[in-house]
Amino acid sequence: MRILDGNAIRDEIYAELQFEIAALLAAGVRPGLAAVLVGDHPASQVYVKSKIAACGKLGLGSWQVSRPATVSTDEMLEIVAELNRRQEVDGILVQLPLPPQVDAKRVLEAVDPAKDVDGFHPLNLGRLVSGRPALVACTPSGVMEILRRSGTVVEGAGAVVLGRSDIVGKPMALLLMHANATVTICHSKTRDLPAIVRQADIVVAALGRAAMVTPDWIRPGATVIDVGINRITGIHEAERLFANLPTRLAQFRQKGSALVGDVHPDAVEVAGAITPVPGGVGPLTIAMLMSNTVKAARSRRGHSLSSSATTSAAPATR
Ligand code: NAP
Repeated sequence: MRILDGNAIRDEIYAELQFEIAALLAAGVRPGLAAVLVGDHPASQVYVKSKIAACGKLGLGSWQVSRPATVSTDEMLEIVAELNRRQEVDGILVQLPLPPQVDAKRVLEAVDPAKDVDGFHPLNLGRLVSGRPALVACTPSGVMEILRRSGTVVEGAGAVVLGRSDIVGKPMALLLMHANATVTICHSKTRDLPAIVRQADIVVAALGRAAMVTPDWIRPGATVIDVGINRITGIHEAERLFANLPTRLAQFRQKGSALVGDVHPDAVEVAGAITPVPGGVGPLTIAMLMSNTVKAARSRRGHSLSSSATTSAAPATR
């Protein structure tokens, strides 16, 4: 069994991006990312902070625009319009979730598709559907990097994607299909989920349900990509999930909480390869945001959207 180490893959991508960034800097272009943070949601604050820190580490420009949770849709549209206008801003990231009074769809659709480094704009989604170069959502792109860089055979493989969100499940299924996997998409109305998952060579779990995918769902030797990030705080749940992992249980007792994926930790006993939580898909999401910012900087200046460091949405040979 192989642990697919997301931190190591992120470092590989950063090392490659550094060459691209150096070439852009030499040509007088400093790619830059603007992050819009609304309210004081602790997780959103942590995410934005890590994204800005990653820009600093790679030498990219970064700007943070913060607004209180009382912000209106019109104010958000003004912020986005201003960032769209600013020449030095290559990527615009609106941290989700937005407060309920803000029309999130309108705000995301206002982002210039050329600066849409989250890949949420309908134009980029449409390009992804038709297999044309696009800015693609960071988490699913990160999963493709894990598969590619770990030498996992995707072409011809049976892939099961658990979850159909616009942010993870749908773009994930499209990327796998373009890479010539045979893809099944599952959701809350799917009948007999375990039986479907058991057929899969590749399982991507993006449900938001702590440890729902148990070892008996996994075909021995399958590659398991666990996108889920769930914080557990109950001791009984921790004792059940970490029964075979005394170190993790001890860490839980010390901290009072732990992060677990959508896949039960004991799936390591059955899978051929698996991403850990934390330290699997998570680090790739930020790496792909950096990669998309560099891609956007290049393509806004007339270069192609494909990057030497990372894969694009374009389908493999048909
Ligand atoms: P989401 O929008 O809540 O979507 C969850 C999907 O799972 C939905 O399609 C839902 O089906 C399906 N689902 C939920 N419960 C189910 C069940 N019991 N059986 C079958 N399907 C079920 O979540 P998301 O934004 O895609 O995120 C998924 C997970 O990934 C979360 O844990 C999130 O924290 C994590 N995440 C991680 C990263 C990262 O960087 N690693 C990035 C983004 C998200 P319906 O469509 O039928 O409701």
